[in-house]
Amino acid sequence: MSVFEALNAETLPVRLGSNQALTDRIGEDTGSWKVREVGDGNLNLVFIVEGSRGSVIVKQALPYVRLVGESWPLPLKRSYFEYHALVRQAERDPGMVPDVLFFDREQAIIVMEFLTPHIILRRALIEGQQLPRIASDLGLFLARTLFRGSDLAMETRKRKEDVALFADNVELCDITENLVFSDPYYEAKLNHHTTPQLDGIVAELRADRDLKVEAQRLKHLFAANAETLLHGDLHTGSVMVTPQETKVIDPEFAFYGPMAFDVGMLLANFWMAYFSQSGHEKDGDRESMREYLLDVVIDIWDVFRDEFARLWRNERKGILYQAALFEDRGDSLGAEQALDEVLQSIWVDMLGFAGVEMHRRILGLAHNADFETIADADQRARCETKALKLGRHLAVNRRKIHSVAEINALAERLE
Ligand code: ADP
Ligand code: MG
Ligand code: MG
Ligand code: MG
Repeated sequence: MSVFEALNAETLPVRLGSNQALTDRIGEDTGSWKVREVGDGNLNLVFIVEGSRGSVIVKQALPYVRLVGESWPLPLKRSYFEYHALVRQAERDPGMVPDVLFFDREQAIIVMEFLTPHIILRRALIEGQQLPRIASDLGLFLARTLFRGSDLAMETRKRKEDVALFADNVELCDITENLVFSDPYYEAKLNHHTTPQLDGIVAELRADRDLKVEAQRLKHLFAANAETLLHGDLHTGSVMVTPQETKVIDPEFAFYGPMAFDVGMLLANFWMAYFSQSGHEKDGDRESMREYLLDVVIDIWDVFRDEFARLWRNERKGILYQAALFEDRGDSLGAEQALDEVLQSIWVDMLGFAGVEMHRRILGLAHNADFETIADADQRARCETKALKLGRHLAVNRRKIHSVAEINALAERLE
């Protein structure tokens, strides 16, 4: 076993220069390699390595949180979970994640395909770009990864082994459990918000008993309902895009949790993008961008639901709702009834997860660039207030909401 050592631009060609997976891809003349550290994330090192024949991404975990420093240790094994999640996602929805070329567990290094000219979806949305493929690609990705990683599809022994493998991703789950479900709802140390503009509504939310009970119910679901392999960090900063292609990156938070979590987190980020648009209107009005974003949410949910139903009808090979009880006895209506109930429960929980995700991005530690790049604090606070209100509505009233269109209408009214 080799002792962990963080890479840097100088040592990378020396340490990885004889790695065949890498040299096959970019060339052996390490002297001409160009190495740039480009990590803009909160946790890890990310290098672009360019050789004479091509380029790759080298991602390395650090034994601490990059954003905070060595005072916040975080285990290297998150890289192991990221690697295993990428492999499974590539099987379940081919073409939607970068190809993995090499993995070194001790050094916590993943070498993968360099996505270019892709940019981070969040950045594209802040710039006002309308990507034609994302709704369909992301809706399919959600349905395929969530369905195919669950007891609806997997062989039970394989699934239980997999649950055991990912159960060790304790520290990253712990981050979500605290930062998403608890910290926003009290004066936790790492929190911050736009102050003093939001002080009033923040105090209101933290005194809101119904909201706090819902947040804890959702935390319970997140922690205890090991339903499928989740991406675990599926926001618009974990998606890279061109107009022709959508790729999902960064699944180091992967673990077995409730299906609704990835769906809710992703949709929340589109609603936040929607509310942030009025803060980015310096170079022209964003009316059509707002319409586009609301359509994206509708389409992601529709595509997700239709693909989930298709998989239910064609790939239901696991231990749940077996065909022996339904279709094989001529009762396909029974299978459809069960499908409706499963989708209904994903819907209700998804809304809750979306609600708390909107809160934690405004009240917690990790904010998002959609709002943070609005320089004028009054303007930013107006956008954030709308998201906080919608988030509260979704979390508390999720059982009484019937369609995305209904939520979009509320969002427009707040706007
Ligand atoms: P972290 O876990 O630290 O958030 P990410 O995996 O999100 O790291 O990567 C950080 C940044 O590096 C991304 O926002 C993106 O700009 C870039 N990046 C990561 N993976 C790739 C890739 N396969 N191709 C191109 N750029 C990438
Ligand atoms: Mg990231
Ligand atoms: Mg595809
Ligand atoms: Mg990450």
